[in-house]
Amino acid sequence: MSKSDGNIDFGFTEIPREEKQSRVKGVFDSVASKYDLMNDAMSMGIHRVWKDMMVTKINPQPGEHLIDIAGGTGDIAKRFLKRADAAQARRGGERATAIVSDINYGMLAAGRTDTDGGRKETINNRIERVCGNAEHLPFDSACADVMTISFGIRNVTDRDAALREFYRILKPGGRLFVLEFSTPPDKILRKIYDSYSFAVIPPLGGLLAGDKESYQYLVESIRRFPRQDAFASMIKDAGFSRVGWQDYSGGIATLHWGWKV
Ligand code: SAM
Repeated sequence: MSKSDGNIDFGFTEIPREEKQSRVKGVFDSVASKYDLMNDAMSMGIHRVWKDMMVTKINPQPGEHLIDIAGGTGDIAKRFLKRADAAQARRGGERATAIVSDINYGMLAAGRTDTDGGRKETINNRIERVCGNAEHLPFDSACADVMTISFGIRNVTDRDAALREFYRILKPGGRLFVLEFSTPPDKILRKIYDSYSFAVIPPLGGLLAGDKESYQYLVESIRRFPRQDAFASMIKDAGFSRVGWQDYSGGIATLHWGWKV
């Protein structure tokens, strides 16, 4: 059966479209408790640098409302609130707010690290956590100043539907930022990166998270994700203006953005 018959990529395997969401859920159910550890191990900590660069580009402002989709354990929302608080301390204004939304309760729960039941206020327990599918989200139209999705869009079955949802939920003037693994334009870097990914990441997933298959899916799904220009066109097609992107680490990851004008 070809993709036109209703199949979709799940890594290098083709599966019926309606199965993808539950297969992806299985991956993140399995890795949730080891997710942060594995991120550090397989990227040698570089995912932190990419996320810092992303939030520098966002330039969070006092009073802004962020909704981070497929937000997992909350890396982007925590960084966003810290930067917005720093801006508020310098210039005054309202406190910024953040929601992390994810389809997977396990990932949201793994991000709740407070041990005192939230009595002492921390950046982490200021974040509201909401379960939801990126394709049809439980948020009002025109309610967010900034929407983000970091290493999440690749896993979504209907990416066009998700991008249209982000457009709906942003206020006019609001900005979308998508951080995702990408394709290094340089052939030599691509070769080195491919060798590293396939040889190291699945075995490391087996060792640290007890789940080699989920990390095999991860490296395969990266190779199936559209290239930079193709994904930028999808963002434009969803209605966004001033669409652009910046490669990180030679294009191993890419930050995409677009404005709702
Ligand atoms: N954003 C976090 C980060 O950068 O560390 C987590 C990224 S993790 C690789 C991908 C996340 O996407 C998982 O938490 C998974 O549950 C979530 N996800 C997968 N499909 C989704 C969907 N259709 N809607 C919302 N979240 C989804």
